[in-house]
Amino acid sequence: MTHFKTKTPNNFDLPRRINRLGELAYNLWWTWQPQAQRLFSRIDNELWERLAHNPILFLREMGRSSMNEAAQKSDYLANYDQVFAEFDAYMAKKGTWCDKNHPDFCKNQIAYFSMEFGLHETLPIYSGGLGVLAGDHLKEASDLGLPLMGIGLLYAEGYFSQRISETGWQDALNNPLDFDALPLIPIFNEEGEPFTVSVEFPDRRVSARLWEVRVGRTPLYLMDSDVPENAPEDRQLTSRLYWSDINFRIAQEVLLGVGGVRVMRALGHNPSVWHMNEGHAAFQILERARELVAEGKTFAEAIEETRVNNVFTTHTPVPAGNDEFPLWMIDKYLAAYWTELGLSRDEFVSLARNQQPWGETFSMGVLALRHSDGRNGVSELHGRVARKMWNFLWEDRKPEDVPIGYVTNGVHASTWLARRLGVLYQKYLGADWLERLDDPRLWDQIDQVPDTALWEVRMHLKRKMVFYMMERTRRRWMKGGFHPVQAIASGALLDPYVLTIGFARRFATYKRANLILSDLDRVLGLLNEPNQPLQIIFAGKAHPADEPGKELIQEVYRAVKKAETGGRLVFLEDYDMNVARYLVQGVDVWLNTPRRPNEASGTSGMKAAMNGALNFSVLDGWWREAYNGHNGWAIGDDVAPDTESQDENDIKSLYATLENEIIPLYYERNAEGIPVQWIKMMKNNLRTITPQFSMRRMVKEYVENLYIPAVK
Ligand SMILES: *Cc1c(COP(=O)(O)O)cnc(C)c1O
Repeated sequence: MTHFKTKTPNNFDLPRRINRLGELAYNLWWTWQPQAQRLFSRIDNELWERLAHNPILFLREMGRSSMNEAAQKSDYLANYDQVFAEFDAYMAKKGTWCDKNHPDFCKNQIAYFSMEFGLHETLPIYSGGLGVLAGDHLKEASDLGLPLMGIGLLYAEGYFSQRISETGWQDALNNPLDFDALPLIPIFNEEGEPFTVSVEFPDRRVSARLWEVRVGRTPLYLMDSDVPENAPEDRQLTSRLYWSDINFRIAQEVLLGVGGVRVMRALGHNPSVWHMNEGHAAFQILERARELVAEGKTFAEAIEETRVNNVFTTHTPVPAGNDEFPLWMIDKYLAAYWTELGLSRDEFVSLARNQQPWGETFSMGVLALRHSDGRNGVSELHGRVARKMWNFLWEDRKPEDVPIGYVTNGVHASTWLARRLGVLYQKYLGADWLERLDDPRLWDQIDQVPDTALWEVRMHLKRKMVFYMMERTRRRWMKGGFHPVQAIASGALLDPYVLTIGFARRFATYKRANLILSDLDRVLGLLNEPNQPLQIIFAGKAHPADEPGKELIQEVYRAVKKAETGGRLVFLEDYDMNVARYLVQGVDVWLNTPRRPNEASGTSGMKAAMNGALNFSVLDGWWREAYNGHNGWAIGDDVAPDTESQDENDIKSLYATLENEIIPLYYERNAEGIPVQWIKMMKNNLRTITPQFSMRRMVKEYVENLYIPAVK
């Protein structure tokens, strides 16, 4: 085993009595512990908000005198002692779900590869749902006591920040991240030099240094190619997430897959489960086979031996969405590999060959599916779509017999649930509600929560969201260069007492953000209906190279800028996990309008649901499984012959449901001003969705259906 050291930077000037705050800042455990967050925010909430919830910057900027003051206050210290007692008990890892239920399995290690991880807004190494899912997976693995390790890349510029110009055009800002201000723990070798791994490219080696992010008990290892021994262009390799240049992409994927295996080996780990979250990491399969070939095995033996440990989760229901490379790129980047594996070029290409109308490609999805015994889609419907889509790999089987299962996605409740709702659940569902989160019987008691108490919290959360948006607008306005119409477009005129619909996600065209705006005059009428007005909030980024996605933003923004909206149509710029939290907690209705069956799962609707927002969505992905007629609303029902008539059907259905059901139900109040029927639906939603679509249920299914079989 190689020796290595981590050194947590702890150079804060803190009073001794509370100096463990420095340690807390370097473990993301705090991000899903409201009481731990309060240890920062209650010292200076304004600074905490201004620094975008970055505890490292906060501890650095906070004056010593305020810290001394906090260290004198008995209630602060009581809060502090309790948080650290919980933290220490958590990190001691005794009696976890994994230990109690699968003690033998828990002796194994699980390597979890992902191109992106969405853990917190301060660490922008994610672009959307795939990354947030990976981040939530690590947090839940930690909560359940799974011996899991994350592997990914550290992007020097992160994902871009979004600005929307006055004309509605998305500008992408790429700013270098300040690693010193992030919870990144450098790993060093015995000589005290940065710990590196390297991969071979045709004419050179590329090295990457290693950083660790602590996610509770779960380590996440990130590779960073910006090291002096690399050529200048290789130092750029990990500068951005999802380069559009295909050369960068393949090189990043070689680094993730091959480099990731070498990280495990170099750190002395020996995982028995190798989980690939999407195909980007599928080169790990080749590297592990190469290791065995180097020990004297044949390629056939090696690939057989490794496949049992591989778990592959596919997220892409459209063939074009899967990563694949033209064969000349495989020649360029992987020529050394086939000789090392003892294969001819043709044999090598056959491992992942895919026939496209424009020619043959090397498909990461094919590589992963053909060499993993664990394969799954991310919702029941997506499982079915995936079996059909990949049927050609199992030609002799009927679609329903294609060996791809599904594990429906979930979300990490402690990350996404409003603190106030947690307090309410604690009071009415029991002190152990969080441990029993995925137990449907717990949620059968939701009627114990009085309507008034639930409504009060909901109204509080909506006000909080509206004030947050106003405050953001104010700050942008004060910086100058912001047209008044942009201020109104970003929420300056929102009203916290109006029925509010949220639509926020990546702006990919299949998600049809503009569907609800199809009949703009009709929408303008609804926004300004005298006794029952409506507000709609949009947010989301388009990939910088996705021109149609950016045009979609512009189209939405054009509508948002119209004076006739009365400021009730809003586009919030720079969607990230922070904005997402405010929106899923604050809006009344969560809208999702993907073109079926393109949404493999979707997760933002689950976050909204557990906060009491009602889903109003196309029956695609997870919603097809969750919707029961009483816990939200469906848009459209059958699959139309072509996309045009599908769009038309969905538009008709959307407006009819909105006008005839959603708006009247929201404004139907009893004598105390409580929308009793609305709350009834909200409780149906909480009861049926929260346990089933929790990350807790999801990770347990991965363990029992995929990880345990992989170690047998
Ligand atoms: C949850 C989340 C997503 C995923 O949203 P979908 O509606 O499932 O696409 C994307 N981005 C952020 C920031 C999120 O928090």
